Amino acid sequence: MHEAVAPGLDGHCELIRLWEESDPDAVLAARRDEIVAVATGGTAIDGPYLDRLPAVRLVASFGVGYDRIDATAAAERGVVVTNTPGVLDDEVADTALGLLLMTVRELGQAERYLRDGKWADGGPYPLTRATMHGRRMGILGLGRIGQAIADRVQPFGITVAYHNRSPKDVEYQYYPSLVEMAADVDILMIVIPGGDSTRHLVNAEVLKALGPDGIVINVARGTVVDEQALVDALRTNTIHAAGLDVFEHEPKVHPDLLTLPNTVLLPHVGSATIPTRTAMANLVVQNLTTYLTTGTPLTPVPESTRLLS
Ligand code: NDP
Repeated sequence: MHEAVAPGLDGHCELIRLWEESDPDAVLAARRDEIVAVATGGTAIDGPYLDRLPAVRLVASFGVGYDRIDATAAAERGVVVTNTPGVLDDEVADTALGLLLMTVRELGQAERYLRDGKWADGGPYPLTRATMHGRRMGILGLGRIGQAIADRVQPFGITVAYHNRSPKDVEYQYYPSLVEMAADVDILMIVIPGGDSTRHLVNAEVLKALGPDGIVINVARGTVVDEQALVDALRTNTIHAAGLDVFEHEPKVHPDLLTLPNTVLLPHVGSATIPTRTAMANLVVQNLTTYLTTGTPLTPVPESTRLLS
């Protein structure tokens, strides 16, 4: 958990610091009837976990993605789950744009070329086949972050389309079919939630439709992409390149992604700045303190709003 959360809760509640306990399970068992809220920075929380804590009414999660928390099982037990939406949109969109530029123009590869002394010894870095100009982007998941990405790429002259489960009141072209969108664009920007419902949505068929000029950028969750299919598509030039901030089995990275020349890889740094992570921590604190004083947290996830209202 971010270091600002514990001090932020001072004076609002007794905080049990499970991460400092040698036997957290024993502490949970001993205090099971007193613990009313859980703050988590990424622990998997499912129905059986909550069954061990019958007094819990709130799970406050750090981060906007909450695919490791079963919010439906929580709602069935009368437990609200909160996340930290909104405060990280610009940061993640900036990262996505940087990753896109790096991937299209091979900026990471070019920098390594310079650092390896190849510029002086071997001449200029080869011209890149790809350019940002004249591209069309398909956003898989036009939500808060997807919209912030769309806002950023339009000044580059990039046309935006999107695929969600349902259309939004926006000017961009909507595709009910992900494969059909992939066939009509040459950048696939992935920014949907992870979890079972989106697992391997981006598969071999989608990558084939994207085609040989295609660029995949994933700032969502690694599970959304069939990573082996992506490796195969990159190796056979079925698509041109991929820029990835997230991985199916992170922090382990598929070894072929590390050696392929047409990948740019980041260690899940989408929101990872001090100001943005602090803002996320403050929202975790606000959700907990508002819940403790009013009984209603600030930013419940959609499942909690739908099932508990
Ligand atoms: P939002 O909920 O605002 O947007 C998600 C969008 O995805 C919605 O528009 C939704 O539209 C669409 N969507 C959801 N499920 C599906 C589906 N099965 N098929 C097609 N579209 C779908 O989320 P945010 O923009 O705030 O965040 C998006 C994700 O980005 C997070 O869940 C998180 O996993 C990831 N993230 C990654 C970070 C990083 O460090 N790399 C940092 C922050 C977030 P509809 O409901 O109509 O389908």
